[in-house]
Amino acid sequence: MLRSGWLLLVTMGKKVAFALRNGEKEESDMPLTLAKLDSEFVDPARQVALLEADNGMPRFQDLLRRERLPELTAERLDVLQVNVGKLCNQTCSHCHVDAGPHRRELMTRETMEACLRMVRLAHVQTVDITGGAPEMNPHFRWFVQQLSALGCRVLDRCNLTILTVAGNEDLAEFLAQHHVHVVASLPCYLEENTDRQRGDGVFRRSIQGLQKLNACGYGDSNSELELVLVFNPVGTSLPPNQNELERAYRDQLLERFGIRFNRLFTVTNMPISRFLEDLIRQGRYESYMETLVQAFNSQTITGLMCRNTLSVDWQGNLFDCDFNQMLDLQLPGVPSNVQQVTEANVDDVIVRKIQTGRHCFGCTAGAGSSCQGAIAEEKT
Ligand code: SF4
Ligand code: SF4
Repeated sequence: MLRSGWLLLVTMGKKVAFALRNGEKEESDMPLTLAKLDSEFVDPARQVALLEADNGMPRFQDLLRRERLPELTAERLDVLQVNVGKLCNQTCSHCHVDAGPHRRELMTRETMEACLRMVRLAHVQTVDITGGAPEMNPHFRWFVQQLSALGCRVLDRCNLTILTVAGNEDLAEFLAQHHVHVVASLPCYLEENTDRQRGDGVFRRSIQGLQKLNACGYGDSNSELELVLVFNPVGTSLPPNQNELERAYRDQLLERFGIRFNRLFTVTNMPISRFLEDLIRQGRYESYMETLVQAFNSQTITGLMCRNTLSVDWQGNLFDCDFNQMLDLQLPGVPSNVQQVTEANVDDVIVRKIQTGRHCFGCTAGAGSSCQGAIAEEKT
């Protein structure tokens, strides 16, 4: 929702925002962060209030009960997902982190040291580094080196264009040298669709980024350097079949650009943050939520990522997942003094109830959605 003093024009599907506040004029052909839009949803509590409003839509917990499914719980910790900050060189319209070039929230090295301690104590196998553009955190390379020395499987959620930014000429080589698995966003193999969601020129620069990764050995079937692409719908539909889409990406990217990759993950747009703002502005919030609820698939429940993951924010606070992190939904039933990675006793935080809400319908719709892509066979 936009407050007075701002004028937003929508032209040919691309947002052109003119900030006319306090006499200041700023023009951008990219979507703005919620703070720049002066949106009420900059406050996570406002997002939760809207999502949990008494409006006749089933609550996630009630639907689990109706389907005779137990409450969600976490029983083990396989993945520590570390969000190292909200700074990003892009401002994508669907971003659930509300990241952008103006954000200043960055994880310190001390907090990263606390993450390393948890990795050691809990014998975490996989550390999933996300942001923002995680590579923009000044301690990113140090963190990767430490994790690599611990023998962890390290994932970098890379937006691809960061590989083409001045100063990052050796980034692809660095990732390869430390055997980092690259999980890279590319919402479409068509330029127009990608640029509509992620900004003008992003597709071309993403292709350059992929070519750099391929040149370092990423994406080859006989290489250990895994390159995963991530698709999310440009609009309000659910993702198509993951295997079929992977085949289409493989054919298109190889034929047109000579690009190779290992796997494709499909993810659903979550009704939070900038995508929620966009849904409200377009009057499509109710219909999108109805789509998610109608497509609820009980077969996704066992594979939900919150069941084996802990998420850490840039300040070291712990959450069930990156989405709960953005909504500031803390770990339920865990004493507040141990909700921080610096204070946490691993036994207190691994086995726990999971905090759910209507946003969770985004993870359970259709074939399901997680940081590892689709979870189950699509509901028929
Ligand atoms: S690249 Fe990722 S973190 Fe950056 S704005 Fe886009 S979706 Fe958000
Ligand atoms: S949003 Fe998804 S991953 Fe997070 S708690 Fe809900 S179901 Fe689990």
